[in-house]
Amino acid sequence: MILTQPGGDHLVIVKVLTSEPGLYGIGCATHRERPLAVATAVEQYLKPFLVGKDPENIEDIWQSAYVSSYFRSGVTLNNALSGVDGALWDILGKRAGMPVYKLLGGRVRTAVPLYTHASAGDLQELEDKVRAFQAEGYRHVRVQLAVPGFATYGAQSLTSDEVRRARPRGVPDSPVYEPTPYVNNTIRMFDHLRGKIGFGVELLHDVHERVPPPQAVQLAKALEPHRLFFLEDPFAPEDVHWFGILRQQTGAPLAMGELFVNRNEWLPLVQNRWIDFIRIHISAIGGFSLARKIQCCCEMFGVRTAWHGPGNVSPVGHAINLHLDLASYNFGIQEENRLSRNTREVFPGAPEISGGYLYANNKPGWGIDIDEKIAARFPYKGAGGSRGNDRRLDGSIVRP
Ligand code: MG
Repeated sequence: MILTQPGGDHLVIVKVLTSEPGLYGIGCATHRERPLAVATAVEQYLKPFLVGKDPENIEDIWQSAYVSSYFRSGVTLNNALSGVDGALWDILGKRAGMPVYKLLGGRVRTAVPLYTHASAGDLQELEDKVRAFQAEGYRHVRVQLAVPGFATYGAQSLTSDEVRRARPRGVPDSPVYEPTPYVNNTIRMFDHLRGKIGFGVELLHDVHERVPPPQAVQLAKALEPHRLFFLEDPFAPEDVHWFGILRQQTGAPLAMGELFVNRNEWLPLVQNRWIDFIRIHISAIGGFSLARKIQCCCEMFGVRTAWHGPGNVSPVGHAINLHLDLASYNFGIQEENRLSRNTREVFPGAPEISGGYLYANNKPGWGIDIDEKIAARFPYKGAGGSRGNDRRLDGSIVRP
């Protein structure tokens, strides 16, 4: 169990040792908001469960560990299991002398196309950022714009004094988010970007489950002429059946899933072809073994992969995303995360980014290691992140 914070995020890495000298594997168990809960699940419950088992029996270990807690499909235990599962695949690759993507049938692409993040305080700044990313070679850019006077997701956006004065007496002080200004501002953003830049770049946008479902339907329909690459998380996981309604009303490509922990959340969306991109956070569902099965299931239904990949996925998790991306015919796009210099020092062999693509090395296993001595120089600051500070005008909490 290695807990380290070389960048902004609390990372949780599981290391599984074998009886073979020098042979070990690493996996991602990162839940940035509750890392110590995952660490306890690994140390106190999974470690005693695993000692003495054959690391090549990955499927049996996954299935038996999954039910060993009786209650299952929670994000803490899924992350703990993901750490172990990733480490076992790493060991298997090292034993075979092959990168994991070769164990999956080999590459179907040379490198992995990335989408990068552009966010800005105003339209001109955002347009300039998109153009700068295009000049770097990016063909896919996620765009998020500050909402004048209000807080929002994905862009630095300050609550104005005027908005604060519009709140009721006695409301707790907080950033203020309101769905209507956000929706209007997002339509304005796409009108501007398509008007100025045209359609030569693929644009993406994340609603982040923040608006009431009927407003998400309005937004998706209004954005349809702007031909997004995808519109992400128009609904919360609690509201996924709205996808069946939205699907009948718009041809906008839809992405969903970074908060999913349970197959009953994603399976209806896939089997009904209600979404176009699966956005699962691989460690949150229980790791690579299950993600591979989901990818295969999605291929049968014409759903493409867009595995969740910001900074709250560890570099080991990014390597896992990369190997799966390389070997999946139904790959759609990969979210980019640029690693800090400190993070690269802690994780030698981390995937390389160049010109809008992600590259794997050809080392056995995931091709990434962790330098525990350097990791120890970056202990956790505090017990983990916390989300959900924005509130509506009336004081009610907004989803993060
Ligand atoms: Mg997202």
